[in-house]
Parts: sequence; structure tokens; C-alpha cells
Amino acid sequence: MTNDPLLIPPYGGRLVDLMVEDEERAELIARANQLSSVRLSPRSVCDLELLATGGFSPLDRFMGRCDYLRVIGEMRLADGAIFPIPVTLPVGETDGLQIGREVALRSPKNELLAVMLVEEIYEWDRMQEAAEVYRTTDSRHPLVAEMASWGRFYISGPLRVLSLPKHYDFPELRHTPQQVRALLVRLGRANVVAFQTRNPMHRAHEELTRRAAQAVDGTLLIHPSVGLTNPGDVDHYTRVRSYKALVERYYDPRRTLLSLLPLAMRMAGPRSALWHAIIRRNYGANYLIVGRDHASPGRNAKGEPFYGPYEAQQLCSRFSEEIGVRILCYADMVYLPAEDRYEERHRVPRSAKSLALSGTEARERYLACGRPLPAWFTRPEVMRELARAYPPKHQRGFCIWLTGLPSAGKSTIADVIAVKLVEHGRRVTLLDGDVVRTHLSKGLDFSREGRDTNVLRIGFVASEVVRHNGAVICAAISPYQATRDRVRLMIGEESFIVVFVNTPLEVCERRDVKGIYARARASQIKGVTGIDAPYEPPADPDLVLDTCQDSPEECAQKVIELLRERGFLRNDSGVRDGGHDVHDKDRRASPLRLASSSLVRPFTLFWTAVIDLLGPVRELIGSLFDKI
Ligand code: ADP
Ligand code: ADP
Repeated sequence: MTNDPLLIPPYGGRLVDLMVEDEERAELIARANQLSSVRLSPRSVCDLELLATGGFSPLDRFMGRCDYLRVIGEMRLADGAIFPIPVTLPVGETDGLQIGREVALRSPKNELLAVMLVEEIYEWDRMQEAAEVYRTTDSRHPLVAEMASWGRFYISGPLRVLSLPKHYDFPELRHTPQQVRALLVRLGRANVVAFQTRNPMHRAHEELTRRAAQAVDGTLLIHPSVGLTNPGDVDHYTRVRSYKALVERYYDPRRTLLSLLPLAMRMAGPRSALWHAIIRRNYGANYLIVGRDHASPGRNAKGEPFYGPYEAQQLCSRFSEEIGVRILCYADMVYLPAEDRYEERHRVPRSAKSLALSGTEARERYLACGRPLPAWFTRPEVMRELARAYPPKHQRGFCIWLTGLPSAGKSTIADVIAVKLVEHGRRVTLLDGDVVRTHLSKGLDFSREGRDTNVLRIGFVASEVVRHNGAVICAAISPYQATRDRVRLMIGEESFIVVFVNTPLEVCERRDVKGIYARARASQIKGVTGIDAPYEPPADPDLVLDTCQDSPEECAQKVIELLRERGFLRNDSGVRDGGHDVHDKDRRASPLRLASSSLVRPFTLFWTAVIDLLGPVRELIGSLFDKI
């Protein structure tokens, strides 16, 4: 593959291309179908695509141990080239894998993607990687939380890629680095400014990108990440529809290119920014825009940001020369109403009035309340897309997650909340740990693994309910913080409400609804939470309930109040404490019959049945079913 002299050459000199030649395909597919397989996660599928097409050049494989260790320690590949993020392929089991043997790599749907000749299988240390790359071991960091689910080993070796992952959405905007380069050459400018984003673009971003392209007389490459981004981000369908509308209406087609990048982001702040610059160089960009808080996830358990606001700019600028990508650093853009224009914050005179809205504020203060976003903040086309994706908050889904010791009162309180919500006119799904263990999680044991699997299954169903704007209440011991944090990621920070049912062990033991404490004390059963299995109280619950002081109704009422405060229930409708101020329509329906999610039909029927069965089943199960 020859490089066009107009554009900056790829990082390392040439674009890696791992695609198998046509003549070889049939023979390799036949062979691959006889091999053992590794099923890739969605993240690894994204990584494979960028490896295959040269987006990660000069990297041509999932990292082997030497590259990996030097990357996490020094941000360099073994040969010394800067590469700040590990790109690795985790596997849980090594059965069927052998050094020197080939293995087929398949998508989560089992489609054959590639063949790897396994050259290395090595163990890695999650805490070490978290501390070195993400500079935190706090499981509030999305990658730190996700890593807990990765396998214990990384594998590496030469890859031969048979097919790229299929993208049926926005095919006209999907391009390999080679294709982006060809399109940029057609636009005719040597300077190319890339803009990375995982959020909707508002007028501040428009100003920023236009300024940047003008400053270097370059082409603007709007290059949003549409692989995995931060959990809870605006979905990429909504984003891409809005980028398309923006580019069509407000950008100069002679110097703008919109292309989608199937990157699985790492949210590693400064390290990510540097990685983004290297990747964009492979697509033909010699400039990258880096603003405030580039690639930063939310806040840690103490409420502090994971990275400083300008650290990404500092790190990128330090290595800019070495990676050959110039960094265009910008401070926050703010709106000056008197002049009807945007300006960087530090250039605004103190006396001048300026306006700014963060993405969170736009969601919370406008979309959540059904108010239109101000015209100075965003274009109407973007506003329309966002309003479609974000209905007012009282119509959105949420998950109440009750955690606590066995017999703390989770199920009892959950039942009351469910009924109150149905009275309120919401559709409710109740996922009770006891009940879930009789079907969805039937057969799972009470080891850490069994408990985690159960909690993650509940989390998965809950996330589907929330995604479809249903209310879901989960009552499960869920003793481990890291697992609850993983569920938080599945559901999304804003919609996940952790309620700690904080009943002291002595009280729980006295209540002993299912007799499990008595059996544990008599050594008849093992692994009972609170006795001989750990319970990690939530580090930062949204609400703590005291069941010694408050009745189940009072506890449930506190949850209802919190939902009102957060806007998930309207203040002007539904039940008051006595539960009589209900709309006629709601009054007619039996709470338990209504209590199902708005999921696809089979699920709706299934969960309706579960809820109908709830009362009797809980009595029937009687003693031994613990809840996780
Ligand atoms: P990322 O997580 O990749 O930083 P964003 O979409 O939040 O994704 O930001 C894209 C780029 O735009 C980043 O470099 C960011 O710092 C910059 N940016 C975001 N908001 C603003 C703003 N209001 N003013 C100036 N730059 C911004
Ligand atoms: P868990 O689901 O946490 O295992 P359950 O709700 O099944 O616990 O059992 C809790 C027991 O404690 C029930 O018998 C319930 O009647 C009793 N209880 C007493 N006070 C309260 C309270 N304030 N909230 C919830 N349950 C309470």
C-alpha cells in the first residue's frame, strides 16, 4: 500500500493491513471451521477491526507480554514507539489453546472473523493495569469495573482477518483508514484537523472545530467514536443522525469530512487523548483538537474527577513531536449573548456576560423537564434528535437496587414500592433475588462466581427494562461492591439508584425469615452472607434505610420521595402518602397485573407471570433460597 504524499504518513510509516487475500480465503475458512474458537467481546471486536485496517498501526496484533508491560509502564511498545493504551485479547480459559496452534476468533454472534496463530498466553494483573493505565483502582471507573469481567489470560500472535465486523448502520459513513485518506486527498489539503467526540455536537463544538480548521487552513475530519463509549452516553444512532444534519447544514463541504470510528474507548483521560492522536494520524490527520476533560469518565467514589481538566492537553503536547501530530488545545467555549458569538472562556473580559451549559445540565435542566434547549446552545436539528432520545424524566426508565443482608427487609420494601409505583401509573418490573433463582438463575450456587452471575443476570434484565423506559425494582443481597458497580455500568449512572437496606446482623438474625441464619449457626449450610460470607456495604448509596426505626411503608415512602426529587415521578400526579390521589385509569388496574415492564412481548408476559406468582412463590420457596 503506497502512501499519498499529500497527507502525513501513518504512524510507523505504513498502514497495517491484516485482511487475507481473496485466493487464500476459502482455504483458511475451511481450516478455521475445524479449529477451536475464542468468542470475542464487543470491545475486542472493535479492537480487531482497528488492528485489521491499520487504525492502530504500527500495532499488528493484540499485544504480547513485552509490548504490554512496556505500554502499561512507559506508554511505549517494546520497540520504543509511543503507544499509551494496552490493546489485548483476554480469555477466561486456556482449554483448546496451545502455543504454536491456530485458533479461530469469532464475534459474540459466533461469526468467523479471524485466525490467530497463538504465540503467547500470559497472565495479567488487573490491579496493576488499572493503577498504571487508569491511575485508579476505583471500580467507578468504567474500564476498571469492566476489567473485572475479563478473563485471567491474554493471548497474542499473528492475525489473519477474514472479515471485518458487519455494520448495517450508516454504511455510507464507515470507512477504513485507507478510505478516509483517499477522501481527504480528494479534498486537497495537506493539513487535516481531527475532532474526536463521543457526545452530541453543540454550537460550542461547531465553533471549536471551525476555528481549528481555519487556523491551519486544513480539512476538518469529524471523527466520532461509535464503538464502545462511556456507559450512559447518548446512543450513537442519535448522535450520528445529529452529526449528519449538522455537517449537511452548517459546515463547508469542501473542507469537511464526517466518518465514524469503530473505536472502543478506554476513558483513560490523558493516555486516551494521546492514543486518539496516534489513531487519527493513521487516518491522515496531522492535528487533533483536545479540549477540557478529553476522554474523562464521570467522577470517582469520592466525587472527584479521575483526571485533571487540562492533563490531556499537557500529555499530548509533551509527546506531540514524537508522534508527529500537532495538538490544538482549546479551553471551554462559552457564549457571549451581547455579541451573539462563542469565545474561549479565558478570553472573555470579566465584565462580559457569558453562558455555558454542560451536556449533563442540558439533559437534566432541559430535556428531562421537557423544555426545549436554548437556540444559542444547540442547533434545532440536534435539539430534535435529543428530544426524541430523551423524553422528559418522568417518562424514563430507572432501576431501584435494594441491597442488604438476608432478612434485612429488601423484598418486603420492594413489594411496597412496586405497588406504590403502579398506583402512580408507572409500569413496574420486580426482580426479586429469591424468585430469579427459581428460573433465570436456577441451579447457580452461592460461590462468589454464582452470586456474581446471578446479580449480573438481574442487572442485564434490569438494563433492558430501563432501556425501554420501564421502572424496575431489584431486591438482591448483591454483597459485592464491584459487581454492583458493573450493574451500574449496564444500567447507566443516572438511572441506577442504590438503596442500602441497612439492618444490623443481630436484627436480621432475629427475623431470619427463611431460617438460613439458624442453619448456618448449626453448620448445616455454608456461605451465608453475614455469617461466613462477606457483605460489602455500598460505598456511596443513594439512600440508606433503617428498618428498625421505619416501617416497610415508611421505608418505601422514602424511596418514592427520592424518585420525586430526582424527577422520575411527577410531583403533580399520582399517589400521596395515603395512596388515594390516583388517576381513574390507574385505579381500575390491579397493581400486580399491571406490574410488568414495557419490554418485548415474551418478556412482558414472562415478568407479569413472575410478579403474579410473587406472593405465593416466596412462601413456597420457604427456607433455603438465599438472595444474592
Ligand atoms: P471525549 O470523551 O472524547 O473528550 P467529548 O465529545 O466530550 O468526548 O469531547 C470531544 C472534544 O471536545 C474533547 O477534546 C473535549 O475536551 C472538547 N470539548 C467538549 N466540550 C467542549 C466545550 N464546551 N468547549 C470546548 N471544547 C469542548
Ligand atoms: P430480605 O428480602 O432482605 O431477605 P425480607 O423482606 O424477605 O428480607 O424479610 C424481612 C422481614 O423483616 C420480614 O418478615 C418483614 O416483615 C420484617 N420487617 C420488620 N420491619 C421491617 C421493615 N421496616 N422493613 C422491611 N421488613 C421489615
